[in-house]
Amino acid sequence: MKITLLSGRTFDINADLGFDMKIVYSARSRRLTLRIDRKDRMAVLTVPKYCSRKKAVSFVESHQDWVLDNLKKIPEFKNFQNHDKITLFGHEYTIEHSPIRGNTRLDKKNNILYVSGGIEFLHRRVKDFIKKIALKEFTVRSQETAEKIGKKVHNVFIKDTKSRWASCSTLNNINYSWRLALAPEFVIRYIVAHEVSHLKHQDHSAHFWALVEYLEEDADKGREWLTENGQQLYIYK
Ligand SMILES: [Zn+2]
Repeated sequence: MKITLLSGRTFDINADLGFDMKIVYSARSRRLTLRIDRKDRMAVLTVPKYCSRKKAVSFVESHQDWVLDNLKKIPEFKNFQNHDKITLFGHEYTIEHSPIRGNTRLDKKNNILYVSGGIEFLHRRVKDFIKKIALKEFTVRSQETAEKIGKKVHNVFIKDTKSRWASCSTLNNINYSWRLALAPEFVIRYIVAHEVSHLKHQDHSAHFWALVEYLEEDADKGREWLTENGQQLYIYK
């Protein structure tokens, strides 16, 4: 792999490290750092402005075991499977493959998510269904929450972003990751309160956080959960 430093020099790390690595250049950082990107399952090396090839390579090599150990600890990505239990907007459902019983749908009384079609498409169908439900739920919740502060949400979109859980644009559009549908109810309430609060404050100021707490009293709990357990939502592909 070829690395171009900010100073214009280039060098290669072609040692067989046994893992994938992403290189980030940083004019601000003073030293080499290595971290694990759990979502992409790779190491991330931050290279400061003035750094020799030799130094970077030996730094990575000396941390090889640490990286491999940490990558091993990340649970494997999996597909949704028949009989899996999943939580959708706070309710637990069991996935039941049901090829001949009409559309993919929720049986709320019996807590079953019936999935139609061939078994080979089950993962795809469950994911599509969750996105559909997420769009409906997040739209309603966002509009209702916005009303409380005299604001209107223009559009809600469901995305598959890895870098952030949700975002709010200056056009009053809110994007949510479909994975949030699998999070506990209080986490969902927190994220909605957070994004809706951005309709009023486009920053993370004290005013902003006060509004989040006004809209959702368990906001702290939701935020902590995402920091500590958010990774769980990435188990499914
Ligand atoms: Zn924010």
